[in-house]
Amino acid sequence: MAQLIDGKKISQEIKDELKETVASLQSKGIEGALAVIQVGNDPASSVYVRNKKKACEYIGIRSESYELPEETTEDELLALIETLNEDPKVNGILCQLPVPEHMDEQKIIRTIAPSKDVDGFHTQNVGALVVGQQGFVSCTPAGVIQLLKRSGIEISGKHCVVVGRSNIVGKPMALLMLQENATVTICHSRTADLKSVCKQADILIVAVGKPKMITAEYVKEGATVIDVGIHRQEDGKLCGDVDFDQVEPVAGAITPVPGGVGPMTIAMLMNNCVEAMTR
Ligand code: NDP
Repeated sequence: MAQLIDGKKISQEIKDELKETVASLQSKGIEGALAVIQVGNDPASSVYVRNKKKACEYIGIRSESYELPEETTEDELLALIETLNEDPKVNGILCQLPVPEHMDEQKIIRTIAPSKDVDGFHTQNVGALVVGQQGFVSCTPAGVIQLLKRSGIEISGKHCVVVGRSNIVGKPMALLMLQENATVTICHSRTADLKSVCKQADILIVAVGKPKMITAEYVKEGATVIDVGIHRQEDGKLCGDVDFDQVEPVAGAITPVPGGVGPMTIAMLMNNCVEAMTR
């Protein structure tokens, strides 16, 4: 049976550690506040925003909520971000994505001050990751690194295959694994013979956005399998990009969905907020 990598437990450990750090910063008079902006009322975004605010409350930092109507203009949103950039009481700014279609997502990300970009999406923070300098790292891939390290899974010298090359998951994931001295292969929709590439992986990280696409045939015996995907099935249950029931007997270690990577994203967002406080 594969080792089950428990993201729920690990994310709780991280949040408890952060709670202590926040208390100690507060005793020195350092306060933290995260500004959370949501444009429109996409139900999935509302759930994410609510969970982020709950996590702030848990670790002891203030969250400021900006719920803007769908018809907000891009200029209005940019003006709000600029005000928050200048506000010394706010040390983290997050604009929940996706934004409505009439807005340029990249422009919004670019407008957030890099020193307050706790999502780690600004090109300055992405660039810092590329050259190995300090900056905010995208939360989901940073969470995967914590899952591996805190589960005692060796990364250095291992062959890691990352399936997916998005800016928020696949690319930063590959860079972080490289920083941890893995040998990294990145796959995408044009990769030839994906199965045989995946089968070479000691650590297989999947972020394709296709429910249960990765079956046992893609996995080497004993490999560690990290499933970033999250999908709501017709029966209402959640599943990942990996077919858990098929892959679990082959894998050496595996993350479940839910309870794997998902909870880590918010824990690492809180980690970035605390880092923003200490800078
Ligand atoms: P994107 O849709 O932005 O990227 C998907 C990537 O997968 C692309 O690079 C695409 O390749 C590649 N891909 C698609 N189909 C195939 C295929 N058949 N074979 C090989 N590669 C393929 O998704 P995200 O990176 O944003 O998210 C991935 C998954 O992770 C989603 O399920 C999402 O819901 C989940 N997610 C979960 C989070 C969490 O907190 N747990 C946070 C963020 C995302 P190409 O570039 O060639 O098009």
